[in-house]
Amino acid sequence: MEPEKPSCERLSVCPMFRILRFEASKTIFIKQYCEGDWSACARYQRWKAGQPVPETLLPNGVELRK
Ligand code: SF4
Repeated sequence: MEPEKPSCERLSVCPMFRILRFEASKTIFIKQYCEGDWSACARYQRWKAGQPVPETLLPNGVELRK
């Protein structure tokens, strides 16, 4: 049995994770960032730097259109 993979520490509170979870086309972001290299996530980087994080900012730095 494989050990459980660690996930981003923001996962339980991040509004973008909730959006990504329910859109199948976005699951690549979860694999790549939330459960992969979250230090590369634009949202995580902003949060770590103490900067505001727009709700519509995707992990790759692109903003979702409203
Ligand atoms: S990796 Fe980015 S999008 Fe995923 S939970 Fe962390 S901060 Fe949110």
